Amino acid sequence: MTTSHAAKPGQTAVTRVPRSMELYGRALERIPGGTQLVSRRPNRVAYGVSPIYAVRAKGARFWDVDGFEYIDWISGIGAILLGYCDPVVDEAVREQIALGTMYSVNHELEIELADELCRSIPCAEMVRYAKSGGEACAIAVRIARGATGRDKVLFCGYHGWHDWYLAANLDADASLNAHLFPGIDPIGVPRSLAGTAIPFPGGDLAALGERLDQHRGSVAAVIMEPLRSEWPAPGYLEGVARLAREHGAVLIFDEVSTGLRFGSGGAQERLGVTPDLAVFAKSISNGYPMAAVVGRREVMEPSARMFISSTYWSDTIGLRAALTTIRESRRRGVPMQLEAFGDRLQRGLNQITEETGCPVRCGGIALHPSLQFAADDPVLRGQLATLYIQEMAKRGCHGYASFYLNAAQGEAELSQTFGAARETFQLIREALDTGTVLSRLECDPQQDAFRRLVR
Ligand code: PLP
Repeated sequence: MTTSHAAKPGQTAVTRVPRSMELYGRALERIPGGTQLVSRRPNRVAYGVSPIYAVRAKGARFWDVDGFEYIDWISGIGAILLGYCDPVVDEAVREQIALGTMYSVNHELEIELADELCRSIPCAEMVRYAKSGGEACAIAVRIARGATGRDKVLFCGYHGWHDWYLAANLDADASLNAHLFPGIDPIGVPRSLAGTAIPFPGGDLAALGERLDQHRGSVAAVIMEPLRSEWPAPGYLEGVARLAREHGAVLIFDEVSTGLRFGSGGAQERLGVTPDLAVFAKSISNGYPMAAVVGRREVMEPSARMFISSTYWSDTIGLRAALTTIRESRRRGVPMQLEAFGDRLQRGLNQITEETGCPVRCGGIALHPSLQFAADDPVLRGQLATLYIQEMAKRGCHGYASFYLNAAQGEAELSQTFGAARETFQLIREALDTGTVLSRLECDPQQDAFRRLVR
């Protein structure tokens, strides 16, 4: 049964989601930090208003433990491409389960998926598997270090939780502050890794060139997302590839979040720049754990002699789910569908901002639209984003102030979201006019969003 989103008398003073809050209290007792992923922490949305625990999902929606139904505008933090419980992927997985999911020996699916990836992705000539994005990035960095015999890694943006990456914050200037979110203490990361992970700002070729010159002969890899929410400037990625090549560093595109949204060849095919290695995870398997490191034979082949090995990397559920998701996404024309849908979402929201006079714009690429509230004061901007998240949650739309698309989102989701946005933008306009933004918040302002430098 679905609960009405209207607040019950007396409910908002305490919490709108009592069962979620009770479970989160128990989680904090048993699970350090409460959640497994920082992006699932409830202070990332509207604490006490947004759902924290789900019971089930289907298509574009999920249902929480308090009985509310939501449109999921985060799409499983980007992992869901075709929609929840996609019948074709789930049936393929069920068939695989009936055959046993892993064995003491290998399964032909490993080769079949590798062939598929190598046919579709420009840089792919050889393939290794893993289960998550961060893990696959760590593998790619290991391969780059092994293939070049060098230690240092130049990075831009977010690439997971592993030592090689958090080592950046061992330096006094806490390098990740601008790339992830501020204040990450690299507790538990060996101090001896200091100076091995060096950030560079996205979009600035000169800055990358300077760092490559400064660390000449010792940079194993340049790792970055080819894009996130904006198209890269013409010639930028070509310039990065040229610089990496000139300095003998392996260029790694982290396509964990872009995934198949740009097509089965990844963002690299769409952008026309081919890296040496690329990392895929999340959306390649529609929510089933699966990741792949793909790349040029010359760089990948030396990894046969490196110790990169794990039991579950041969799990056939992820392999079957990935193969089916890739084929279905291509067969259904999902990338084009998502782009057209994202465009309608952006245009619709921007029309509502004009109607309501709310100082916000929906920008970014159509595949990953995001809202920018126009306020000079960053504190006020954060409060407005939180008020937006809070009011949209009350109206059955779960999300951040940005949108991860999936192919199950359709007319019903657009029309419900436009209706909710019209009321929410109106309310924000009134709150600004009457100086009541803070008093309308039923939660603390959202904590600093996962910050990424790649546009
Ligand atoms: N790289 C990028 C670009 C990501 O967006 C993410 C996750 O958000 C990761 C790596 C880490 O992936 P995972 O959470 O599966 O370890």
